[in-house]
Amino acid sequence: MTVDPVRTAQRAAAPWPYVTLDVAALRASGWRPTPLREVVLKVHQRCNLACDYCYVYELADQSWRGRPAAMSAETWRAALDRLADHVRVHDLRSVRVVLHGGEPLLYGRGRLAELATAVRASLPGTCKVEMGMQTNGVRLDPAMIELLRRHDIRVGVSLDGVEADHDRHRRTRNGRGSFAAVAAALELLRRPENRPVFGGILCTVAPDTDPVAGYEQLLKFEPPAIDFLLPHANWDEPPGRPGAGETPYADWLIAIFDHWYTAGPEPPVRIRLFEDIMRLVFGGDSGSEQVGLSPSGVVVVESDGAFEQVDALKSAYEGACATGLDVRHDDLDAVLADPGMIARQIGLRALSPDCLDCPLHRVCGGGHYAHRYRRGEGFRNPSVYCADLAKLINHVYGRLADDVRQLVSSSGAP
Ligand code: SF4
Repeated sequence: MTVDPVRTAQRAAAPWPYVTLDVAALRASGWRPTPLREVVLKVHQRCNLACDYCYVYELADQSWRGRPAAMSAETWRAALDRLADHVRVHDLRSVRVVLHGGEPLLYGRGRLAELATAVRASLPGTCKVEMGMQTNGVRLDPAMIELLRRHDIRVGVSLDGVEADHDRHRRTRNGRGSFAAVAAALELLRRPENRPVFGGILCTVAPDTDPVAGYEQLLKFEPPAIDFLLPHANWDEPPGRPGAGETPYADWLIAIFDHWYTAGPEPPVRIRLFEDIMRLVFGGDSGSEQVGLSPSGVVVVESDGAFEQVDALKSAYEGACATGLDVRHDDLDAVLADPGMIARQIGLRALSPDCLDCPLHRVCGGGHYAHRYRRGEGFRNPSVYCADLAKLINHVYGRLADDVRQLVSSSGAP
């Protein structure tokens, strides 16, 4: 019998889900996986920046070293064939293909254009196809934006607030800051003719910075949306706790929430984390993996064709994202049978006893799956950001409850 070393390592590092999640019992109870709706293609594994917090290059999993720098056309063709099959089998009406890296713009305009054309051509006409890209923005010039417009690829750009804060972490390999280049790209994107492909700005939460100054900096580029992301951390690699408070990440986000929430009847920008929490408070669903209990529908295709889980898990341990499957031999339903994928689709059943006892669990959802990791136990724990999530959610809930009370009393309702 052959021993799969990756699976053996996963069982040791994360008994839940790889040993103790009873998939057979789940299926017997009637649970069925949710089809995948987003494929992330890691078209270029290398990056032209060396950000000090990067979860691909700087944290536990170094598997990128053994992979080709660029994805071959044969690999992305196989990935698109798998996606097209999945769309037909599950009669999907919309899917998303995201070009990612490393840095996807290093793939070059010619290859990006060929790939984008194939994405639209290969999927059934009954299925709406959205294309996106996540980039550091450094190589986003007018010719590249023209290509994005031609192929209707919406781009998200990473920017960490004001110049000094951004340049402290997001540097080139020779130590130069990248703010000026990214700001130039964002100035191009905010032009009216380019706005259709401006997806938004992604910003890492940094409690050692001025939150409102950073937020105001992002607003200057008039993004349609902002994603604030907690730095990837877990119980073995806990987040830094700068400052005196116990909940610096919540305090930072709350300062921005209050600024945003009181800006007027129409907030100046969509902030997905806040909108998700507000929707969840009113009993709705979440649109992201940061909060809530919605099943994850995302799979990653690495440059060598390996199917993997979202690469935020690279922050946990070497091999945490692996499924052992690839685009040449396996279909997306096989990916959905991986215990790691199942764990991110089963909502309440993935929560730890502490989370199930917590009154916030339907809103919080235990936080991001990657942030629940503890070596030797796995992913069935509260988030390492538990106290921050609880404070943020309670704050948002309190603001909404005050407003609802005021509305009711001003309407004269009994
Ligand atoms: S606030 Fe903490 S205990 Fe409550 S659901 Fe979130 S992570 Fe779990």
